[in-house]
Amino acid sequence: MPYETQCAACDGAGCEKCHDGIVRLTGCPRREIGADIWELLEYAELFRRGLAPEPGGALDQAAAFLRACGFIWGEQQRIEAEIMNDLSAGRQGRHPAGR
Ligand SMILES: [Zn+2]
Repeated sequence: MPYETQCAACDGAGCEKCHDGIVRLTGCPRREIGADIWELLEYAELFRRGLAPEPGGALDQAAAFLRACGFIWGEQQRIEAEIMNDLSAGRQGRHPAGR
């Protein structure tokens, strides 16, 4: 069963990266994500646990990295909430955020 979620690029408004605001994955998501993004996800998880990629505290990290972490952590929370809502409603497979 394909996985569907709201497009993060346009917040569901519809753009060239989605179909009417919905992104549909029909294969392994690992094929859709490049090595650089996997590396960023690993650094974001380490930073969430207190291990910064650069020496120092949060103010010593690159602003772009901090913005990326905010986006990643927000998306992880949103997806976890969708899954929990679907599980409590007895649904599975489709996770249209905010609908
Ligand atoms: Zn889109």
